Amino acid sequence: MRFRAAVLHQIGQPLVIEDIDVAELRPGDVLVRLRASGLCHTDWEVMQGSLAYPLPIVLGHEGAGVVEAVGRDVASVRPGDHVICSWNPFCGHCFYCVRDQPILCEPFSRHQPRGHLLDGTSRLSVQGAKLHHYSMICSHAEFCVVPESGAIAVPREIPFDRACLIGCGVMTGVGAAIHIAKVQPGSSVAVFGAGAVGLNAIQGARLAGAERIVAVDVKDGKLELAREFGATDTVNAGRDDAPSAIRSLTGGRGADTCIEAAGIVHSLQPALDATRPGGTLVILGKTQVDAKVPIRWGSLMGERRITRSSYGGARPSRDFPYLARLYLVGKLKLDELITERLTLERINDGFARMERGDLVRAVVMLPD
Ligand SMILES: [Zn+2]
Ligand SMILES: [Zn+2]
Repeated sequence: MRFRAAVLHQIGQPLVIEDIDVAELRPGDVLVRLRASGLCHTDWEVMQGSLAYPLPIVLGHEGAGVVEAVGRDVASVRPGDHVICSWNPFCGHCFYCVRDQPILCEPFSRHQPRGHLLDGTSRLSVQGAKLHHYSMICSHAEFCVVPESGAIAVPREIPFDRACLIGCGVMTGVGAAIHIAKVQPGSSVAVFGAGAVGLNAIQGARLAGAERIVAVDVKDGKLELAREFGATDTVNAGRDDAPSAIRSLTGGRGADTCIEAAGIVHSLQPALDATRPGGTLVILGKTQVDAKVPIRWGSLMGERRITRSSYGGARPSRDFPYLARLYLVGKLKLDELITERLTLERINDGFARMERGDLVRAVVMLPD
């Protein structure tokens, strides 16, 4: 079978739209006809080389679509189901999976960085040459092959462009608030960075019942959007000192929970300084793996807890249908996250806009 996909052949070069081939499905595979695929900053990091993956590779890890076919061992979805892809398929029985930490799943950790599926192989090729899978999804394409645990059925009422966002940015942000920080009703939360992940951390804090939610960013437009997502207060860190502003909003102590979603280098120290003694800092941002990020020792004192999360404690088969239902009853905002919809052919324009920082999410729409 042959279909179009956006392929990264070289670091720093645009994606190339071309016809690629997919091998026959193996017993645990699910073939998804993609209908929408969100452009996430992590794709951009791979394109720029700050996140190293083998090339050539098909990027895209925020996908939604319809199950086209399944391998003979697949039981949880069937052709025709509407699904959201999870970028963390897992084996379900390794050391970490049985300790309820599928994000650390051993086969996933071994094969994901090599651009393979959970069984350590690729299903994709272009003109006979092997192609790599980005995080076992490759959603910037007309179809993708994912392991069964990477295709989660959701209600068919949710539109595909909204649904795909749940697969990465929404899950990571909302999950950071509800699963990782376990934000308490009536508590205070400060979120650094009001991009896609930060806005979702804000709405996660709102869903968890936080009373005071402070959004921090350097762009007034993003802070306005943050209010729509549930921020009760905003701080422009370009004009004001965020830790002192947050302390003055929280009885001088700092926020019960701080969530860092701004990319770490400039936000880790202020986020720590804005966390109250005994409070929790959840780090979502990332930088190059060998980069050093200095921290003032005193800010680590005071019984603060610091934790890093990649996927918001996701259990996709539990969380994706729930988040979709929250959207359908008007409690989860997704419409406001989409700045632009584009065709697969225009995907590089979307990444150019992302680099300029003037979009929340661009979504590639794929035909029926
Ligand atoms: Zn992502
Ligand atoms: Zn596992």
